[in-house]
Amino acid sequence: MSQYDYDLIAIGAGSGGLSVVERAREYGVKCAVVEAKKIGGTCVNIGCVPKKVMWFGAHIAEALRDAPDYGFSLKQEGFDWGKLVEQRENYINNITTWYAGYLDELGVDLLQGWGRFADEHTVEVDGKTYTAETIVIAPGGQPLVPQEVENADLGITSDGFFALKEQPKKVAVVGSGYIAVELAGVFQALGTETHLLSRKDLVLRGFDDMIRETLTDAMIESGVQKEYHFRVTKLEKAEDGTLKIYADDGRVLEGFDEVVWAVGRETLTEPLALERAGLSVNGKGFIEVDDYHRTAVPNIYAIGDVTGQPQLTPVAIRAGRYLAERLYNNKPELKMDLSKVPTVIFSHPPVGTLGLAEHEARRQYGHDNVEVFTSVFTPMRYAFTQHQIKTALKLVTVGEEKTVVGIHIVGDGADEMLQGFAVAVQMGATKADLDATIAIHPTSSEELVTMRPMIFR
Ligand SMILES: Cc1cc2nc3c(=O)[nH]c(=O)nc-3n(C[C@H](O)[C@H](O)[C@H](O)COP(=O)(O)OP(=O)(O)OC[C@H]3O[C@@H](n4cnc5c(N)ncnc54)[C@H](O)[C@@H]3O)c2cc1C
Repeated sequence: MSQYDYDLIAIGAGSGGLSVVERAREYGVKCAVVEAKKIGGTCVNIGCVPKKVMWFGAHIAEALRDAPDYGFSLKQEGFDWGKLVEQRENYINNITTWYAGYLDELGVDLLQGWGRFADEHTVEVDGKTYTAETIVIAPGGQPLVPQEVENADLGITSDGFFALKEQPKKVAVVGSGYIAVELAGVFQALGTETHLLSRKDLVLRGFDDMIRETLTDAMIESGVQKEYHFRVTKLEKAEDGTLKIYADDGRVLEGFDEVVWAVGRETLTEPLALERAGLSVNGKGFIEVDDYHRTAVPNIYAIGDVTGQPQLTPVAIRAGRYLAERLYNNKPELKMDLSKVPTVIFSHPPVGTLGLAEHEARRQYGHDNVEVFTSVFTPMRYAFTQHQIKTALKLVTVGEEKTVVGIHIVGDGADEMLQGFAVAVQMGATKADLDATIAIHPTSSEELVTMRPMIFR
């Protein structure tokens, strides 16, 4: 009999924590998962899932906008934000209720409360202690509120966005990362006057320049009011209850119902009392792990957003499953390939991106070893609509063989287009492989298999 209460305890019932216990149970491992808030974690409750529901709502709004150009005569009698939110939350409640039942069926104990280390084999939850041979830390993170900004707490974060029961008339989204562009896109499409305030210039710093330029233009075209080089110093509540935003260069914007901070996320490690287990975080707040998700303490592993690996649900899920395979299914060498992680940004239009941006490829492989293929066009969907939304595609290839190391897509359908191409890139596809593939016509994705070298714009 084991000296521990459990073989495995995961702290955090989000994408990572749930995946590791689920897979471990398949091998008969005795598991518990600790959760302070809602089962499902960020993705299900305040991330991917509610975000995608709102994105679908925004998508429908855009179809309604273009409907008259396709001959429809519609009388739109408004949009009920509250109803959409209610439907969304019902949907999410169904998922979490199902999950709780599923864990029960699997025989995984759900320990509700904040988990905190007592020592490297012991976790305290709500005044009780539980021991385990192996502990997996998967606490995820939370949105940042910039404490250097005066009255920053007058603003909300993505968590607050999902708590909005009424549609704000006018909002400012502060930031230019993927969450900022996604939330701004939803607000704008659903009819809120939307301002996007960025410290620098284009959105999505670090991504391929084609994506940054095309999406920034598309957002402005759709009506988002973009402020460049805007460093917020202070928020203030006006007498009428709306918010004023001050920038360090003297600019003042006013009349906002909500200001949404989308300026990054921080890991949620403080409640864990890591020091009691002999662990700490690095300068960026991440728990450092090796390729096998081992921490500095032999029986403790960390997975998901807390590790600084790409902060995406499929990455956390894969980490949890592989960890269970290594520990309990005799596959000690199994490790993740993080070099070609496909990512979609649910902006308007969406972005799909995989592998190296052109500038990164040229830096890594040398300027002349990189060849780039691009295509920019107005998709047929917008051939005769008043609103025209461009699609831009880029393939980044290296060497004589023209191995594809990057694919970047902005435009309708990018979200569903990328997954299949990701398989090809994972298998080492070259430009010749894409050229050899028969196109599907008429689609936007066919452009990716019919590209010739050309200068972008
Ligand atoms: C607005 C938004 C949109 C997103 N959209 C996407 C998307 O479209 N696609 C995508 O792939 N990813 C998306 N993500 C990212 C994705 O949600 C995360 O990468 C993923 O949830 C990380 O999983 P995790 O297991 O590391 O942590 P989480 O899912 O955050 O789960 C951690 C859980 O641990 C709990 N917890 C923390 N500390 C403790 C403790 N001490 N004791 C007990 N419980 C604790 C938390 O309450 C939480 O439930 C989005 C995130 C946000 C914020």
